[in-house]
Amino acid sequence: MADSSQKPVETKDRRTFLKVGGGVVVGAAVAGVATIAYYNGVVGNNNSTSSSTVESLSSQLANTQSQLSDTQSSLSNAQSSLSAANSQNAGLNSQLSQTQASLTSANGQVSSLQSAVTTANGQISSLQGAVTSANGQITTLQGQPSTANSQVSSLTNETTNLMMAADALTTLGAQEAACLEAAVQSIIPSDSTGPGAKEAGVLFFLDRQLAGEYGKAGNMFMQAPYVLPGLTGPITVDGVTYSAGTMSGTLSAGYGYQHGMNFRTFWRYGVLALESYSTSAYGGAFETLPAATQTQVLTDLANGKPAASSFTDINPADFFWELFFMTWCGFLMDPMHGGNRGDGGLDLHGLQRREYRRLLRRRPYHDAADGGEYTYNTEAGEPGPVPGGSGLHRGRGRRLEMSTVITHPAVDAVVMGEGALGGDVTVKLATAGYKVVGLDKGPYWEYATDFAPIKYDEWGISWNRKFDHPLTLSTFTMRNNPNQFALPVRRNTSGQAHSGGHGIGGATQHYGGDMGRYANWVYTMYSSTVSRYGLAYLNAAVPNQDVFDYPYTNGYTDVAPYYVDWEQAWGITGTNENPFMPMAANFPMPPAPLTPTALAYQAATEALGYNPIPAPTSLASQPYVNQNGIQVNECLYDGWCGEGCNYPCEVGAKANSAYRTIPAAIATGNLDLRVNSYIFRLDTNLNGQVTDVRYYDAMGNIHVQPATTFINTLWGYNIIRLQALSGIGTNYNPTTVTGTLGRGTAQPTGGASRSATGTVAIGGNSYPAGNGKGGAIQILDLADDNYDHTGKNYIGGSRMMVGIYMGSGPGNLAIAGSPSAANIGSKYKASQQNKYQVTKQTLSFAPSGMWPAVTTNYADLDPHYTDLYGDPLIRQTMDVVPNGTNCSNDQAATYEAILNKMGATSVALGAAATPQSAHLATWSAHTRGGARIGNSPATSVYNAWGQHWNAFNLFATGEITLPNGDNVTTGGTHPAGASALIVAEGVKQYLASPGSLLTTSV
Ligand SMILES: Cc1cc2nc3c(=O)[nH]c(=O)nc-3n(C[C@H](O)[C@H](O)[C@H](O)COP(=O)(O)OP(=O)(O)OC[C@H]3O[C@@H](n4cnc5c(N)ncnc54)[C@H](O)[C@@H]3O)c2cc1C
Ligand code: SF4
Repeated sequence: MADSSQKPVETKDRRTFLKVGGGVVVGAAVAGVATIAYYNGVVGNNNSTSSSTVESLSSQLANTQSQLSDTQSSLSNAQSSLSAANSQNAGLNSQLSQTQASLTSANGQVSSLQSAVTTANGQISSLQGAVTSANGQITTLQGQPSTANSQVSSLTNETTNLMMAADALTTLGAQEAACLEAAVQSIIPSDSTGPGAKEAGVLFFLDRQLAGEYGKAGNMFMQAPYVLPGLTGPITVDGVTYSAGTMSGTLSAGYGYQHGMNFRTFWRYGVLALESYSTSAYGGAFETLPAATQTQVLTDLANGKPAASSFTDINPADFFWELFFMTWCGFLMDPMHGGNRGDGGLDLHGLQRREYRRLLRRRPYHDAADGGEYTYNTEAGEPGPVPGGSGLHRGRGRRLEMSTVITHPAVDAVVMGEGALGGDVTVKLATAGYKVVGLDKGPYWEYATDFAPIKYDEWGISWNRKFDHPLTLSTFTMRNNPNQFALPVRRNTSGQAHSGGHGIGGATQHYGGDMGRYANWVYTMYSSTVSRYGLAYLNAAVPNQDVFDYPYTNGYTDVAPYYVDWEQAWGITGTNENPFMPMAANFPMPPAPLTPTALAYQAATEALGYNPIPAPTSLASQPYVNQNGIQVNECLYDGWCGEGCNYPCEVGAKANSAYRTIPAAIATGNLDLRVNSYIFRLDTNLNGQVTDVRYYDAMGNIHVQPATTFINTLWGYNIIRLQALSGIGTNYNPTTVTGTLGRGTAQPTGGASRSATGTVAIGGNSYPAGNGKGGAIQILDLADDNYDHTGKNYIGGSRMMVGIYMGSGPGNLAIAGSPSAANIGSKYKASQQNKYQVTKQTLSFAPSGMWPAVTTNYADLDPHYTDLYGDPLIRQTMDVVPNGTNCSNDQAATYEAILNKMGATSVALGAAATPQSAHLATWSAHTRGGARIGNSPATSVYNAWGQHWNAFNLFATGEITLPNGDNVTTGGTHPAGASALIVAEGVKQYLASPGSLLTTSV
């Protein structure tokens, strides 16, 4: 603090003091008082100088005041700065407080986080405990499936045993069952590939079949005499001696079974013989022998040991064949037939077929409880052979002792047989306004109700042929030459192409749908060959040749418009790129998509300079409406068309008259369609003209149907038979080569062939998918006379069609149908594993040449066997000709080159085949000739219009009326279809102006 006694300080010092004194405000005020006192002492002491002094002092005072004012101002500024600083300080304090509060809150959060971490740590440790405990549980659970598996397998065994105990065997006795169970298990053992025949319930399949139609021979021709195949002769039957005995054949052929007993008896004798042989040769009943010995016993049987005389007069190889076949059928066929339990058999294939089936089924199958199997009644002629549907469509008719004769009013035309070609004629006549009666021995199948629910039944359809001609009604007999006794075809077998049609649509209900026109060379086969190579060439190439031209003035050109009309109606697929056959327009539908194999073949043949084209089919590749206004569904590509052409189509995509022509005829109101009508006679008047047709109805009543015209479309041999039974025309005499009815029968191909084989790395799923004949490529460069035959020894050529869908048909019957000693047991079973998932294919090109007509092949009435009603059956006398084999030997190397071009590996050319080294062992659905159209009544039955040479109001059409055919279409329905339309035209001309139609030309 300042002191008033202190000596005044220099201004300079005061200024400094004023400027810098501590406690600035107080100090400045005290200093101000001291300065005034100092000035007063100076003024009192010196007046002279006082005024100047005063002035000086005043000035100083003023200065001082000014300085004071400055100081005050500075002070004020300082205060204001202080105040601002204070205020800043207060702000800072407030911020500090806030910061402190935040810090406090953060501290609180940290604390609570620390406590959360502590809690989480606790949870983690309790979760770790839970994981440890779960791991323990998992280990326990992992152990459970194997326990469960072993429980399942023991339950399965128990179930099998229980089923065996509970499922009363209806046919087999206890020892038969024991013997057969051991036998089937020996053929298909339980092993690493899965369950065997026992688990699959094959025994129950056998038992059920033996109790049903199979055992009772319900769909077999069982008339005596019984003459075994393979007899060398001479033999005498019914007083007639046959120097050459009989054809040889196994049970796989329809004529192979010639035992005078039904299958129930056959099996009973077979099992008895098996037990007896096991005991005598191996020291115990079959079921008691060690597994290896059981296999040996079966091997003996397969090899024909012991002699039939010590095997209850059954050929042991026959019994083995049936045993093996039925075992595999029981393993693979639909479970509704009693076997294939758990689909174990089918799972062997590696495809989830149960799923597949579930998808396909539109209705549940019948199960064992309600009879499952759709059966024919054993009583000959009993109605009701087919499932579902109305009574109108069913039945084969029971013959009554006292039948009634019913005569109907006359109509314009009777179409006899409403199959493929009958439908073609019917629709033309009905839509032209003529009154038509259509007769057929079978039902009117409805694809939606008859086929869709039950089509996927290999056993019922493909083997037992429930939609085909019943053999109890009639069959055919066959032999290779006139010195043999002809054997009747007694049973249907898979792939046996004779399975005739039955009902509307005929055989085209289950055919393959392979199509193709005949080229001009076929229509002019005789004249073309003779003019190009000479008659000597034809005679040398085809010994006993019976080759004729068609009676069409301009050959193919005359037929072309009829082809177009027919193709439109049937909805043929394909292209018109065939360089050997002019086609003005394309087929109405495009081909089905080509398969990878077909594409490879196409590329290879094109590169080699050939002309590959898609093979035509009659399987609709797209929705379509034909010129009859009929809506056609497209193919579903379920693949069931294939496998021996056994299956009908559940959507009507496979063309036949029931879904292409006859509905349009019905719609006109001019068609009276009578099903279940079995035609047996044509009656004629004194002028040889037909007056009426007689037929049996389903109840055995006889109907008489008069008409102005009669069109015989009963198919193949039936056409010949009806006329032979009715005495119309002259029967063929092979010794004198005179007469025409039955003369010159032929097939598309036949005889031993040489092949080229190779493996292509093209895989796929070969379980049913695709369609029967679609997706393939063919070349016709090596067919007909499309290349120079000079120096060769055959006429015609081959068509090689390659690449139909791999999954064309289920194929399980082929597995079952491979009985041999080598196929007993696990090895064969293993070879069937995952069979349908192939990664490569072996292609075999066997260019079978065509089969021309010869005078030694013919058909006539059989003197030993009759149909159900006592009328003689038709008899085929036919054997292969050298032409086909000669062609094959010549062409096989060409196909070897194609295989190489395709990049195939392991390509091999087979050895040359010997002509006529193998004999005909079946007959074809494609028999042509036999009742030919032609230019002369001396060599043909009908003229160009299909009109009988003498009975002018009788017409016929069918493949068998065509003089020749080649092998460009295996089928022949396509050219026969065009010719049916020519016949329809002829009938219309006759109805307009009755009489011979020779004045007009086609
Ligand atoms: C297994 C098999 C596969 C085939 N594959 C092909 C193929 O891929 N391509 C091809 O072009 N062709 C094929 N065909 C041939 C084709 O089916 C025939 O060419 C065609 O059916 C012939 O027609 P259709 O009218 O002459 O005889 P069908 O169509 O058989 O018709 C004859 C009709 O007459 C009836 N009938 C017979 N006898 C009597 C009687 N006494 N009383 C009353 N009615 C009777 C029948 O019930 C039948 O409905 C195949 C045939 C079969 C059997
Ligand atoms: S493959 Fe096509 S045409 Fe053949 S049966 Fe199946 S749906 Fe019908």
